[in-house]
Amino acid sequence: MTVLDHATTRRTHNGAIKLDSVTMEFKTRDGKGIRAVENTSVEIPSGQFVSVLGPSGCGKSTLLRVIAGLVTPTAGAVAIGGEKVSGPSRKVGIAFQSPVLFPWYTVAQNIAMPAKLDKRRSNDGLRERVEELLDMVKLSALGDKYPSELSGGMRQRVAIARSLITDPDVILMDEPFGALDAITREHMNDELLSIWSQSGATVFFITHDISEAAYMSDRVLVMSPRPGRVIADIQVDLPRPRTERTRGTPEFAALAADMRQYISH
Ligand code: ADP
Ligand code: MG
Repeated sequence: MTVLDHATTRRTHNGAIKLDSVTMEFKTRDGKGIRAVENTSVEIPSGQFVSVLGPSGCGKSTLLRVIAGLVTPTAGAVAIGGEKVSGPSRKVGIAFQSPVLFPWYTVAQNIAMPAKLDKRRSNDGLRERVEELLDMVKLSALGDKYPSELSGGMRQRVAIARSLITDPDVILMDEPFGALDAITREHMNDELLSIWSQSGATVFFITHDISEAAYMSDRVLVMSPRPGRVIADIQVDLPRPRTERTRGTPEFAALAADMRQYISH
């Protein structure tokens, strides 16, 4: 049984993301502007798994925060499921680059939090969903621990589980596996793909790892150095389900080489 069998509302997701000429400029203290994202237009159909690759500081996290409704773009607009984004929404689950957990709540309470905050949803079966997510991120014995008792990688896995608890239409992930060791990372890659394929959610996945992007995605957007723009939009037509064998195919190597060529500039 999977976590989604317990979802209280099995429904069709409408997680299409539309970025329309989005520019994001920050004001610095000396009054100058830092343009983090420049005139970016992207349409992501509902259910697609999209990775974003790009050099550090090119505006990836900023783009994610714009989609999440956490910052308002200087110009342009974002829509999710055809509705303009004007602030944070229940339709969106987020796993940040560094996990933000409540220190005074247990691991299980942290994971359950977004579902508890959503007053429109029935929380029948919430405990079971938390258990399954704990199992998925390999923390089943640790639900009663507090964040301070966990390693950094464990905390990150708690944050990932939490981003999935409400069965969101859109899952935004900012380098979620960056702090994990290679084995755990590959396990998490496969778990996320399995959840994604069953849930029908749209995934917007930031990574700086070319292989990870190729392995996970339907499509990879490569961003330029700041100000970030999308300089390549690469379709990944490798068959699914992806397995260890996928990484050894010539098609996989060719895709990774294609991506690398855009990154090195
Ligand atoms: P990435 O995630 O690709 O590493 P970010 O989106 O975090 O890049 O940052 C892009 C640029 O915008 C960087 O130069 C960063 O310093 C700047 N930036 C991000 N957030 C802010 C902010 N709140 N205020 C000022 N500058 C910011
Ligand atoms: Mg970032």
